[in-house]
Amino acid sequence: MHNKSVAELSRDLESGSVSSVELTREFLNRIKTEDAKYNSFITLTEDEAMADAKAADELRAAGKANVWTGVPFAHKDIFCTNGVTTTCGSKMLANFVPPYDATVTANFRAAGAVCLGKTNMDEFAMGSSNESSFFGPVTNPWGLSNGEKRVPGGSSGGSAAALAARLVPAATATDTGGSIRQPAALCGITGLKPTYGRVSRHGMIAFASSLDQGGSMARTAEDNALMLNVMAGFDPKDATSVDRAVPDYTATLNEPLKGLRVGLPKEYFSDQLSPVMEQQVRNAVAEYEKLGATVKEISLPHANLAVAAYYVIAPAEASANLSRFDGVRYGYRCEDPKDLNDLYTRTRAEGFGDEVKRRILVGTFALSAGYFDAYFLKAQKVRRLIQQDFINAFKEVDMLMSPVSPSPAFLQGIEHSDPVTMYLEDIFTIAVNLAGVPAMSVPAGFVDGLPVGLQIIGNYFGEARLLNAAHQFQQVTDWHQTLPQ
Ligand code: GLN
Repeated sequence: MHNKSVAELSRDLESGSVSSVELTREFLNRIKTEDAKYNSFITLTEDEAMADAKAADELRAAGKANVWTGVPFAHKDIFCTNGVTTTCGSKMLANFVPPYDATVTANFRAAGAVCLGKTNMDEFAMGSSNESSFFGPVTNPWGLSNGEKRVPGGSSGGSAAALAARLVPAATATDTGGSIRQPAALCGITGLKPTYGRVSRHGMIAFASSLDQGGSMARTAEDNALMLNVMAGFDPKDATSVDRAVPDYTATLNEPLKGLRVGLPKEYFSDQLSPVMEQQVRNAVAEYEKLGATVKEISLPHANLAVAAYYVIAPAEASANLSRFDGVRYGYRCEDPKDLNDLYTRTRAEGFGDEVKRRILVGTFALSAGYFDAYFLKAQKVRRLIQQDFINAFKEVDMLMSPVSPSPAFLQGIEHSDPVTMYLEDIFTIAVNLAGVPAMSVPAGFVDGLPVGLQIIGNYFGEARLLNAAHQFQQVTDWHQTLPQ
């Protein structure tokens, strides 16, 4: 049962061959027996899940079910869940129980899906290895059989690892600079970062507001389409959400790819990419040619500036967003503060981890009066140039294809102490967030027995075509079906 996709489980529920109560119990049992190895969950909501499953079975019996009714899934612990602890991977919010649902949470609830719990993540979504979580690192199910502990990627590493270990059939995630695509690639699952504004950010704890976007993780492109059907749409509670009709993302999955124009950004096939990684990506592109796509090299001339611009803009926005955690309103508060200043400083010194503090320092510096023009304003100008690169590219091609990450899953502990190496993990994913375009990571091979992802980047609001391209690839390949030992 746990190897089935959301689409298959939904059909089983519909045919009556399994009930949501049975399914939910099976997945909860798997999490309880298996997750000690991975640490992919922060919170398990067993009682709520069993009650929701029972309600879903009753809805189905009354003929009121949709595809999602009774299907188990999990939320990244960045999405607020009414009455359920929402930590964002931080000591600062370890005791935070939101009195409301994020819009994404509410949408899944309204669809009747059964949330099993909240998945682990880098603290405040800052990281590429899931080692900065207050709740301990997440271990990638891949590589474990060799006795090695590898990172699942980050920041949505809990969701990705839980999927690879077959602990859930679907999980929500967020992507500010690569946090859906990179863990999806490192764990061998399929993930989608939608266009900025496509999915509401209301109730999604903010890291860098102009870059953050909620999205989906599942094992197949089809399941990602089912998730986006629930997640996408205008939300009056999010001023940056876009008022634009939401298509049925499953309706176009089977369109032929004949004539699809694919561009390979030459800057993403440089010496930063090892030849073995490059070969996997080129093999995947060759599959697309067999499916009728035409391929040509294109250029994103400002690609080399993306990481630098991001590490000014993202920390700047983070420093502003994180100023709300002051020990007064909610979350962690230090013991016995002497006065107000002591309350602020000790609460923040004790409540935030090292990486979060580093970002706050960098961001505050970049925004300060003497340096604003030299750093923040300059980075914003670079961002505009990067966006224009994509606009120009999409005049010539329909989609871009590239690697997701420079290497497969690396060992725990090695990059954690070296922030710059860690920041370079996102070298192929970050420009997409600066431009706001959608992109996917699709399993596309193995290097040393570890999964490799193909990144497919689309034009604004091109999610349906991306999902179509990923689905067609998954009809002729089985990388997404391979199980970690
Ligand atoms: N790894 C990047 C960072 O640390 C991106 C994280 C993300 O997308 N949330 O900022």
